[in-house]
Amino acid sequence: MAKIIDGKEVARGFREGIAEETKRVRARYGRPPGLAVVLVGDDPASAVYVRNKERAAKEVGFHSEVHRLPADTTQQALLQLLDQLNRAEEIDGYLVQLPLPPQIDPQAVVRAIDPEKDVDGLTPVQAGRLLLGVQGLRPCTPQGVMELLRSAGVEPDGKEAVVVGRSAIVGKPMAHLLLGAGATVTIAHSHTRNLPDVTRRADILVVAAGRAGLIGSEHVKPGAAVIDVGTNRGEDGKLKGDVRFSEVEPVAGFITPVPGGVGPMTIALLLRNCLEAMKWRSSASLKSPVS
Ligand code: NDP
Repeated sequence: MAKIIDGKEVARGFREGIAEETKRVRARYGRPPGLAVVLVGDDPASAVYVRNKERAAKEVGFHSEVHRLPADTTQQALLQLLDQLNRAEEIDGYLVQLPLPPQIDPQAVVRAIDPEKDVDGLTPVQAGRLLLGVQGLRPCTPQGVMELLRSAGVEPDGKEAVVVGRSAIVGKPMAHLLLGAGATVTIAHSHTRNLPDVTRRADILVVAAGRAGLIGSEHVKPGAAVIDVGTNRGEDGKLKGDVRFSEVEPVAGFITPVPGGVGPMTIALLLRNCLEAMKWRSSASLKSPVS
């Protein structure tokens, strides 16, 4: 039976560290880190994510702002708000919740974000820093996966890692973080032939396809660490992962549940990115909460 990695528990410890660090930063600079979230439209799932981010930011003592804009907001109006956020002294980091309504070009939005405030790690500057392996703000979900592996004592160095999914926000940065940690990395996607043959090579298998139940026991090498990023809303309204948990658990060495695995870590890493962004902006050399 696999060891279940409890993302809620790991995230709780993480947030406690961030709350402590926030007190120190506040004492030193006279203000807390500031995080803003921009929500355009009324997508119900996005509204929940944004509320969770707002609550988490307040709990650790951040200054937190949510800008809720109507679904018919023009691109120009959104870009004006981003310009304000880029210049706002009290805001260290912000993100624009995706997806956006069809009249807004997501690429134009990403280009408008000041890279130094890009706590989602999506701007070309931050993506380039990841590719080059230099200090920068990395996308939150892949960082959360790395922290879950670390919490379970799974060391990527020298291991075979397979990432299923190649999006700019999860799959690609995930592969780069694993590569940077010394793993031999394969990226699988919808054109990959014979997926089980590829995924069975993995000592570390990270699944971010957004396909409920895609991965079964036939995809998993015995003893592998299986991290399920997928969040799919079933017809019964429940969240389901990309991994068939009950089938894979007896085969894997480590496994994350959905919900309660990667999800809570994403928000914890968003907070850490904002804290890091504040420290860099303030040219501070304070100790990172997790280093
Ligand atoms: P995307 O839809 O942007 O990307 C999905 C990727 O999976 C694509 O690269 C696609 O390949 C690949 N894929 C789709 N079907 C298959 C298949 N049958 N076999 C192999 N590969 C496949 O999604 P995201 O990367 O944004 O998100 C992935 C999942 O992670 C979603 O369920 C999302 O909800 C979840 N998520 C969870 C988060 C959390 O905090 N827990 C945060 C972010 C995302 P191709 O490129 O060829 O189309």
